[in-house]
Parts: sequence; structure tokens; C-alpha cells
Amino acid sequence: MSPGLHDQAPNTSDPLPTPPSVMTIGAHPDDAEFGAGATLFRWTDGGAEATIVITTDGSMGSWDPRIDHADLVAQRRREQVSAAAVLGAHSVAWLGQPDGELRHAPTLRKAIASLIRKHRPDIVLTHDPWQRYQLHPDHRTTGMLVIDAVVAAREPRFYPDQGFEAHRPSAVLLWSADDPDHAEPVDNQAFDAKVEALLCHTSQSQTTMGNAAASDAARERFVEQIDEHLREQGRPFGFDRAEAFKRITP
Ligand SMILES: [Zn+2]
Repeated sequence: MSPGLHDQAPNTSDPLPTPPSVMTIGAHPDDAEFGAGATLFRWTDGGAEATIVITTDGSMGSWDPRIDHADLVAQRRREQVSAAAVLGAHSVAWLGQPDGELRHAPTLRKAIASLIRKHRPDIVLTHDPWQRYQLHPDHRTTGMLVIDAVVAAREPRFYPDQGFEAHRPSAVLLWSADDPDHAEPVDNQAFDAKVEALLCHTSQSQTTMGNAAASDAARERFVEQIDEHLREQGRPFGFDRAEAFKRITP
């Protein structure tokens, strides 16, 4: 690391060309939409094949302690499928781990490596596992599992029983990074798609979206918050709006 690293302009890379294939791996339904929904939309709109992977079952995503566990899991699956359709994703894959209890396990690393080898994404997007003060254990753990799975997927001596060729993505983009060094611009169409995909997750209206489903005013406030957040991310990179990432080249 050069001593002057933090004095440099943050954009170390131009926006990436539309990849043929992309995979997001998030802890919960809605994480990929918050972190990279606009980018995912723009790339699928440009012809990319996209897979959305969710590591947990989303069963803790409610402030109602009486809600039926299986009903909530089923609802979150339906919401994720709707959001994936808005973003143009071709498939959704579930690892189904208990929400809030995700542990780093060799079996999960292997499962994610298998998905990477099967779908062969040029770009993998996930949580930044090194984000300081990230409280949610599933976000930290998912990010680290994905990093470890990317390393395994590219090395042919890992998991020869999987029946897939090794695969090395050209880039890993980490959302919610403390020190983003890469940004993808968000135009109006991609902004609208990101908002629409987020609003598919109606079960999360109360917990993460300021009750956006409850009234027009609340929905407007939520859309304004997303807008402001994307403008903040874009500013250091010279974009009106952007989704910013830490970019790793595996
Ligand atoms: Zn989450």
C-alpha cells in the first residue's frame, strides 16, 4: 500500500463494461437491491445474465414476534422473486440458512463456490466483510464466505467432485464499503428500477424502509432517502448518482 493512497482521487477504475454474466450474493432478500440494484438492472438491460443468491431464509425480518415463521419465509421468497424480475435477473438461488445464525462453514463455502463455477459470473457482488462496525453477523459472514468461495472456485484442486471447471471472476465488487474505489453510475431508469425492486419487499417496509408501504408520504420519504444516498455515493466519483463499491480483482 502506497503511503499516499488516501490522498488519491477515489476513482481507481472507470465503470465496467456490461458483463456477460453477473452474480449477487446477499445475506437476506433485499440486500442486493440496496447494495447494487441499479447496477444489476443496468447490466441485465444491456444483456447480462444475472443470478441473485441469498444465504439465509430471511426468517428474522419482522418486528412482529407473532408472525408465522414459515409464512414469513414464503413471503420473503415471493418478494425476492418479484424484485429479481424487476431487475431482470434470470434466477434466484437460496442457501436457506437460519436468519441471524449464519456461520462460516466449509460446506457453505463449497456451496457458494459451486454456484460460482456453475453460473460462471464475470462479476460477483456481495457485502464488504471488512466494513467497520457492521453489526449484522449475517452481513459480515456472507461477505467473508463469498471471498473465501471466490478463492476456492478459481483453484482447480478445490472440490474436484463438483463436476464444474474452476472459474475466476474478473472482479468482485463489495457494497457498503468504508473506502469505495469504484462506482457505477445510476441513471433515472436504473434508479426507478432499484426503487421498484426494493418496494417489492413489502414485508420489510417497517423494518428497513420507513414504512414505505403504509402511505404515499412515507414512500416519498423513502425514495428521497435512496436518492440522497446514491447522490452521496456518486459525488466523489463525479456522477450525479452512483452505487459505490470496493473493487477486488481476484
Ligand atoms: Zn441484510
